[in-house]
Amino acid sequence: MQINRHFLEVADSYLFSTIAHKVNQYTAANPDKRVIRLGIGDVTRPLAPAVIDALHAAVDDMSKAETFHGYGPEQGYDFLKQSLQDYYASHGVKLDLEEIFVSDGAKSDVGNILDIFGADNLVLVPDPVYPVYVDTNVMAGRKVQYMNATEENGFLPLPDETVDADIIYLCSPNNPTGAVYTKEQLQKWVDYANEREAVILFDAAYECFITDPTLPRSIFEIPGAKTCAIEFCSFSKTAGFTGTRCGYTVVPKALVREDSSLNKMWLRRQTTKFNGVPYIVQKGAAAVFTPEGLPQIKDTIQYYLDNAKIIAQAMDELGIWYTGGTNSPYIWLKCPGNMKSWDFFDLLLEQANVVGTPGAGFGQNGEGFFRLTAFGNRENTQEAVERIKALLK
Ligand code: PLP
Repeated sequence: MQINRHFLEVADSYLFSTIAHKVNQYTAANPDKRVIRLGIGDVTRPLAPAVIDALHAAVDDMSKAETFHGYGPEQGYDFLKQSLQDYYASHGVKLDLEEIFVSDGAKSDVGNILDIFGADNLVLVPDPVYPVYVDTNVMAGRKVQYMNATEENGFLPLPDETVDADIIYLCSPNNPTGAVYTKEQLQKWVDYANEREAVILFDAAYECFITDPTLPRSIFEIPGAKTCAIEFCSFSKTAGFTGTRCGYTVVPKALVREDSSLNKMWLRRQTTKFNGVPYIVQKGAAAVFTPEGLPQIKDTIQYYLDNAKIIAQAMDELGIWYTGGTNSPYIWLKCPGNMKSWDFFDLLLEQANVVGTPGAGFGQNGEGFFRLTAFGNRENTQEAVERIKALLK
């Protein structure tokens, strides 16, 4: 009996447990202080009324033999795939229904997609990074190579012609940096990938926060992307489904490597190892794109974007360099006075009673940076910003 020893190579994730430990210690010692958390990556606003109505109606469907649903199609019901097809069409991307795969979220698909790739690929991952990209590769026995996201490149690394990557992870709008690639920048990645027959794994989990119409919400807005990219997206941030669970992955039919259709391989993988998202949840997700649902989710997204603006404006007033804050729920700021991430964390916690996320937790290049999120409520965000301004002025 042998275990998968690659699990021993996965670094323990101390980031959020260390934050929780430090905050608990501080609040226990200072019970009179009100700590505000601007570190969370989870949403806080409730589901839209249209979604709730659809969920209730779907529960009722399950109570009657005539409308009961058992196993559904592994790749999602057509009613939801059609809604997604229309959603993509609304930003100029034409997809076949068979190119859309509904799942329980982007995290699972980002991890599971590795099933269809060989072991010996050169995997390129930005630093700083959403840790799932690295850990899922390490668990599968692959080494990753980092590309530097830095202040100099605005945390948006571009292709290095001297590196022969096979699998490339891109996330835009980015977690943790909030930086968003332009169409011209993504075109460089698409051209690089097509030249090398590499595959881009494009994480669009935060596309709904893009308000600038010139910025791409999908990699498939870029000419040539259908022969080199797979896109992951989610209802988590779009419609508050972090606890409800629904996402989708687009694998174009034109994406072929070693004479094999990656679309067919992913279909085979999903029909073998996955039995679909609950009918009830898919009904709730489809309601997101109805005439009632769309304005409701837009209001919630705007609420978070307004929080982001409040934080970004404070950084402007303080003269602090940052990325994100617009077209993104994240503000990635340079710690003032060249402080290290964890020192700045302690300072904010102890002197302003505000919790954020130290950039060092997302990779080496995150050292000296700090992530604040717009997912809190308005009052807390405003109060936190006033405290930070008072402390740093
Ligand atoms: N991708 C990125 C970049 C994320 O930050 C997250 C969640 O925070 C996910 C994917 C996971 O999304 P889901 O809730 O759909 O699994």
